[in-house]
Amino acid sequence: MRNRAVACAVGVALALAGCGNIEPDDGRVHVVVGLYPLAFLVERIGGDLVDVENLTKPGAEPHDLELTAQQVGHIAKAHLAVYEATLQPAVDAAIAEAKPAHALDVTTIVPLQPLATDSDDEHADEEADTHGLDPHIWLSPLHMVEIAVAITDQLVAIDPEHEHTYVANRMILVGDLTNLDGSYFSELRQCERTDFITTHAAFGYLAQRYGLTQVPIAGLSPDAEPSPDRVAEIHKIAQDTGITTIFFETLASPALAATIAEDLGLRTDVLDPLEGITDDSRGTDYLSVMYANLQALKEANGCQ
Ligand SMILES: [Zn+2]
Repeated sequence: MRNRAVACAVGVALALAGCGNIEPDDGRVHVVVGLYPLAFLVERIGGDLVDVENLTKPGAEPHDLELTAQQVGHIAKAHLAVYEATLQPAVDAAIAEAKPAHALDVTTIVPLQPLATDSDDEHADEEADTHGLDPHIWLSPLHMVEIAVAITDQLVAIDPEHEHTYVANRMILVGDLTNLDGSYFSELRQCERTDFITTHAAFGYLAQRYGLTQVPIAGLSPDAEPSPDRVAEIHKIAQDTGITTIFFETLASPALAATIAEDLGLRTDVLDPLEGITDDSRGTDYLSVMYANLQALKEANGCQ
């Protein structure tokens, strides 16, 4: 099932990895994930058969996550790590060093694309992290389906005895994600506008799939500060397109969005990039928050 000896030999440098003190095996498949949307998928597919640890704690920002020594130890002992390469360099490094028995980099399933935004937005290009690629693949339900299939394959490889359960759970999950995708298509079909203003540029894959145009105030990272030129440009786009709403998000500060909205006499609303679930989230899981996002987009864009 896994090779503890190899993992420990390789992880000698990880003094705190606890290789000499492995926790009693409770029979479950232990999975570590980089951020919430991946935890959602593993929990839905694995159910009671898996124990999932999200390395990004609730309310924390997954971009540029720092890991504790204890978390690195958990990565070394995991049966499976599911992560998104380049989004969280600390996770990439820990997985490379700790070598969990199985590792799934979801960018091998869904290749990252360059940031898609309005016009030739130089500011967003600058802010696009060093790779210039948009990491927010989980905001497309279709990409979540592709990742769900790959996670199922991993769980079956690790724990073939329970293949039937994993595959059955995956089928229900894929049904839910397909319904979500269908709802976005049907409910965003007839709208007064297709442009929407967000704080950080998280919604490129979602916009692309449903024929919308994302107008981000800042770049791909939530803490990027927009230039005065970019703010002036946002003002002009809002006026030209008749946009009603400036979206902000739960994990990032709404101050900037609020200031721009006030200057333009527009309302603010939440569009959640689903980088984590907290008490402030408009839902308790990926699906319910994605449906809340759909309602917010419909209202902002005047959809019938
Ligand atoms: Zn983000």
